[in-house]
Amino acid sequence: MSGNGAATRRRLVLLGSTGSIGTQALDVCRRHPDRFEVVALAAATSVDEVVRQAWEFRPQAICVAAAPPPPAADLPPGVAVCTGAEGLVELAAMQDCDVVLNGVVGMVGLRATVAALEAGRTLALANKESLVAGGPVVRAARERGGGRLVPVDSEHAASAQVLRGEPRDEIARLVLTASGGPFRGLTRAELAAVTVEQALHHPTWSMGAKITIDSATLFNKGLEVIEAHELFDLSYDQIGVVVHPQSIVHAILELVDGSAKAQMGLPDMRQPIAWALAYPDRLDDPVGRIDWATLGDLTFELPDTDAFPALGLARAAGRAGGDAPAVLNAANEEAVAAFLAGGCGFLDVPAAVEETLARHEVSEPCSVDDVVAAEAWARETTRERLAARIG
Ligand code: MG
Repeated sequence: MSGNGAATRRRLVLLGSTGSIGTQALDVCRRHPDRFEVVALAAATSVDEVVRQAWEFRPQAICVAAAPPPPAADLPPGVAVCTGAEGLVELAAMQDCDVVLNGVVGMVGLRATVAALEAGRTLALANKESLVAGGPVVRAARERGGGRLVPVDSEHAASAQVLRGEPRDEIARLVLTASGGPFRGLTRAELAAVTVEQALHHPTWSMGAKITIDSATLFNKGLEVIEAHELFDLSYDQIGVVVHPQSIVHAILELVDGSAKAQMGLPDMRQPIAWALAYPDRLDDPVGRIDWATLGDLTFELPDTDAFPALGLARAAGRAGGDAPAVLNAANEEAVAAFLAGGCGFLDVPAAVEETLARHEVSEPCSVDDVVAAEAWARETTRERLAARIG
């Protein structure tokens, strides 16, 4: 089923195992039992599902981060159980592990990222908050522990692939593609009336609710631009975004001579997940291949920054640096939660984030606690701004 001559199975810790990234990662493991051994699973609140996963994958340990853990009698014999955010950190740094996949949603993932990098692990990173909110802290943790960071997100996995082997002085610009989400082509006036249900209906990708809304506002792409800056050490001027509704091209590298390299693949997250878990090898059992006979047109257009201001807000926060991206991210989380709960309109999301950023004074975070404090301020301020907007 697989090749590449790897003699030993990679031992994986999966944080966020019951989420969208985690379940797709387990599907990759299921397809490659000769390549991957799951040594730990962590879920937030989906206790029944993580118990089911424990019976299938027989890890050494599980963690339930935000709910009461299952009774030991429900689990296979010998499975250790840990709890809370401390449990996530414990698993991220556990000894018998080669790769930590951080697919946790939200800021709670940052502590796990820092722990894995300080322990010198290879970190397959799907948790956006780690690089967006915790950029300066994560940079320091990489330097201290020597851990390796491999991006799981499709655009960043694609970017790493097109950047591979290219000398830095021959790189002109990296371009991330955006699907444009369900509301591509709508005007600001039309966006004012869109519903939660419409925003959750993504045309090409199957993802969790938060990231699907972020994809509809283009905040997701804005966060990805900040991540690309952190991952690849490119300036914001060197990172572009182009809308590509078919989601087949994931990243494009423009070289100084005008040549451009694109990474292409089906819009199935299992492909970048498998790439990240196997890195630097490749698995030879793809989830699918592009069928050139039926692929049809690939189109590209520039994003409408007037209807979708999130991209510009993210770039501004990225350029401001320090804790500004953390504030952007937390403000967006807060506003998206309000939108999902029916507490504000679609356009209130970027508006509230913009108002929060305008009130923020940038400082340089030195620890996870500093990031958490900036985040708490941003949440509070965003709630106030939303309340003021709704009247
Ligand atoms: Mg993405």
